[in-house]
Amino acid sequence: MIRSNFHTHTTYCDGKNSAEEMVLAAIENGMHALGFSTHSYTSRDLTYCIRKEKIAEYQKEINALKEKYKDKINIYCGSELDVISDMDRDGFDYFLGAVHYIDVDGTLLTVDGSGDEQKRDADKYFGGDMLSYAEAYYEMTKKIADLPEVGFIAHFDLVTKFNENYELFDEKDPRYVKAWQDAALHLIKMGIPFEINTGAISRKKRTTPYPRREIADFIKEHGGTFIMTSDCHDKDYLLCHFEESDKIYEGIEVLDFENFLK
Ligand SMILES: [Zn+2]
Ligand SMILES: [Zn+2]
Repeated sequence: MIRSNFHTHTTYCDGKNSAEEMVLAAIENGMHALGFSTHSYTSRDLTYCIRKEKIAEYQKEINALKEKYKDKINIYCGSELDVISDMDRDGFDYFLGAVHYIDVDGTLLTVDGSGDEQKRDADKYFGGDMLSYAEAYYEMTKKIADLPEVGFIAHFDLVTKFNENYELFDEKDPRYVKAWQDAALHLIKMGIPFEINTGAISRKKRTTPYPRREIADFIKEHGGTFIMTSDCHDKDYLLCHFEESDKIYEGIEVLDFENFLK
């Protein structure tokens, strides 16, 4: 089982714990590496991202923790970069590329808020067609390829957060399959790993990680690779569902993202 996690959030954005509390929990869990990935500053949405004036403090604090705990664990200062983020890229060790919104002519629709919100937005902007909504999400996802600084791809099929049992749309529908396959092929070309992300499990939104097994198989078949993260917002879930995920993705090699940083 992988004992690192490069997708974690603290009180600098929407996480529950301080960075040091996370470090102490990681050491307790026998982890060899911990990457912090605060939500990048995004002037178009100030609700859950790091504030612009806090970025220097964040970097300083993570770098101080790096030094303080260097004999026990390797610490990295990163950020989860949304494709619409306009944050200055200086001073970070790595980035993950993510999509949390669909941009409809300048209006941002939040993808991971709730199933009701997705449905409401599909009604209002896509004539009630959830598949069109999902297609628009994957079009946004392709924009990660425009961010060469990104080291891995976060929660590729986040649009299914509230659709584990097809409550909102049919994931077998050829239109849906084509949308994710096109986006996957586009992003595989970047040559960076996709994450297996267990975050929605700890938050009780799903019982399985992103991406669906069939998506993971497709990505693997087309030359893509994987790392594992828990998109951690609470120190008690740093390695949440990692062991079970090894079984879910049996036959798919999971790499340690730290090896990409050396
Ligand atoms: Zn995210
Ligand atoms: Zn995240």
